[in-house]
Amino acid sequence: MAKGIWVFTEQRDGEIKKVTYELLSAGRKVADSLGEELCAVLLGKGVSGLEGKLGEYGADKVYTVDSEALENYTTDAYTNILADLAKEHQPTAILLACSASGRDVAAQVAQRLGTGLMTDCTDMALEDGQLVFTRPVYAGKAIVKAACPEARPVMATIRPNVLAADAPQAGRAAQAVPVGGNTGDIRQVIKDIVKQISTRPELTEADIIVSGGRGIKGPENFALLEELADVLGAAVGASRAAVDAGWKSHSFQVGQTGKTVSPVLYIACGISGAIQHLAGMSSSKCIVAVNKDPEANIFKVADYGIVGDLFDVVPLLKEELKKL
Ligand code: FAD
Repeated sequence: MAKGIWVFTEQRDGEIKKVTYELLSAGRKVADSLGEELCAVLLGKGVSGLEGKLGEYGADKVYTVDSEALENYTTDAYTNILADLAKEHQPTAILLACSASGRDVAAQVAQRLGTGLMTDCTDMALEDGQLVFTRPVYAGKAIVKAACPEARPVMATIRPNVLAADAPQAGRAAQAVPVGGNTGDIRQVIKDIVKQISTRPELTEADIIVSGGRGIKGPENFALLEELADVLGAAVGASRAAVDAGWKSHSFQVGQTGKTVSPVLYIACGISGAIQHLAGMSSSKCIVAVNKDPEANIFKVADYGIVGDLFDVVPLLKEELKKL
């Protein structure tokens, strides 16, 4: 058996993030084509027992480090463990989510292993036995296909929501391999971890996002978008202009210096469509724009555009969607 395709598990409070299943499903196909095994790496506190779920989505083996010290993500501990495991087992490829922690640990581990890293990928395929990744460049203006033929392991971070997760196979088991990890000299987390209690889906994982920009005119008017989001079971996002104005916290920002999202449906309200905003959402499958300026740049990427005042259009949309 060759060395394996690895997927780094994204989980929080014992709940595996959807992107992990997307990576496992894509990794399964690659592993089958190469005749290799598919392994997941599962780190955290109280995570033992999650291996079954990873098996149902295609993992053959799960390396688990379950430790008190891993309750919260820390760069040092997660890097030590993943890099040491990779040095020992020499996988062919390591796939991680393009999330805050995925990006962080991927860069550190790639540096430790002296290998290449392809970031922010939107697709992955096997071409002539080689892993080829698709990634937007120049804030999404161009798309490149890239491979690292000499690198081992090949490492890549892949955006949530761009790969399809296959249906789980109930009862399909993975071999659980508990390992002792070097959590190292963990720097103390001196700030309390602030958890946002929200019934809405997480922005990067959401299938539908309702986003607001400067056209919203004030923080109180986000309630309008939140009502629409509630009807659709959507997450709420914001442009940088709205965030800089203090109407929403930075965790809501979509774009080059915010979050990259790829939902099935992105509804942009009062957002002009600056290149830096498009960089974070142009890979959405369907874009709907509401803007009173018919020349707004957002209409160039929108699949459906509504030229109108969002304060008229959004309540109408909400009422119509409620009827469905
Ligand atoms: P505006 O450009 O002011 O657009 C407001 C829109 O609302 C207009 O099109 C207007 O016609 C419309 N409007 C107004 N009133 C109404 C109404 N009643 N009904 C309907 N439509 C209405 N931006 C991001 O979003 N994310 C980023 O991550 C990001 N990173 C950046 C990084 C750098 C290095 C730089 C230089 C900039 C970055 N920006 C980013 C900022 C970006 O360039 C734009 O300034 C910003 O996206 C504009 O936000 P906006 O579309 O909400 O505001």
